[in-house]
Amino acid sequence: MTANIAKRLIQHYVDNFRRLPWRSPPHEPPPEPYRVWLSEVMLQQTTVATVRPRFERFVERWPTVEALAAAPEADVLSEWAGLGYYARARNLVACAREVAGRGGFPGSAAGLRVLPGIGAYTSAAIAAIAFGEKAPAVDTNVERVIARLYGLSAPSRAEVEAGVLALMPTDRPGDFVQAMMDLGATICRPRNPRCGECPLQHDCAAFATGDPQAFPRARKRAARSHKAGVAYWIERGGSVWLVRRPPRGLLGGMAALPGSDWSEDMSRPRDAIGAVRHVFTHFSLDLFVVPRSELEGEGWWQPLDRLAEAGLPTLYKRAADLVLGIRAAA
Ligand code: SF4
Repeated sequence: MTANIAKRLIQHYVDNFRRLPWRSPPHEPPPEPYRVWLSEVMLQQTTVATVRPRFERFVERWPTVEALAAAPEADVLSEWAGLGYYARARNLVACAREVAGRGGFPGSAAGLRVLPGIGAYTSAAIAAIAFGEKAPAVDTNVERVIARLYGLSAPSRAEVEAGVLALMPTDRPGDFVQAMMDLGATICRPRNPRCGECPLQHDCAAFATGDPQAFPRARKRAARSHKAGVAYWIERGGSVWLVRRPPRGLLGGMAALPGSDWSEDMSRPRDAIGAVRHVFTHFSLDLFVVPRSELEGEGWWQPLDRLAEAGLPTLYKRAADLVLGIRAAA
């Protein structure tokens, strides 16, 4: 039965293959590990539609891991602007430098796992897709498919991995992994799974219960706290004063408007001209924008007509848009 599941799943993948710039079509030689790695890092917390053009631009600028290793970190962070979770970009540079220093990517999940920013899922995905290793790549999509297929309400990671390995063929592990990911993303969706189009419907324990969406049971989210902070808008002669955030921590190393620390007990300053609300993983933030004339911190003057080149992350880009929008409306 399990061999049939893999066969049907892969056939469905072959018939419905999504052409993506980091993938090789089924039956063709695997993609370069550099492209698999980069796409997997970009896709963490970001949608395929957003990643696609950004991936293409990124590999055009740095076509190899060696080219990326030689790039200044600030350039990579600017290129990453808007994709969020900037620790990923800093780890990307650190990882590229280590890989270039070693003369290439390690060819196994265990070897990849020790590189900066590469966790259990990413190492297994690269090993399976680029190197053909039978490595169980488990992301939330795969976890959901396995939980439903086996009818598990709250499976442990080990159970899900065992479930994947039991189904995974030795000859085409890369296609199998991608087939699982695609099934989870497009058919076995968190809500309203399209079981009528699923090649695994007859094997699926959750489908047999009549309520597949109930698997796996939803986890309770920790409540998010709320913080507030100030960003200063300092403008002279058509330029705005920007600083670089400290290298570690949230938005570390990114271009930013200067400002205060963010805290839970700050209230709206009287001289704020507006605020932007931004939701991070663990807290939401109101960033109040306050015009100011004195300089703050070490930074540089960024011409307003070249603000897009500064690599501002979304939070600060929205703060800048707020000021420029108010001005345009006046
Ligand atoms: Fe998911 Fe439905 Fe397919 Fe089961 S039958 S794997 S619940 S889409």
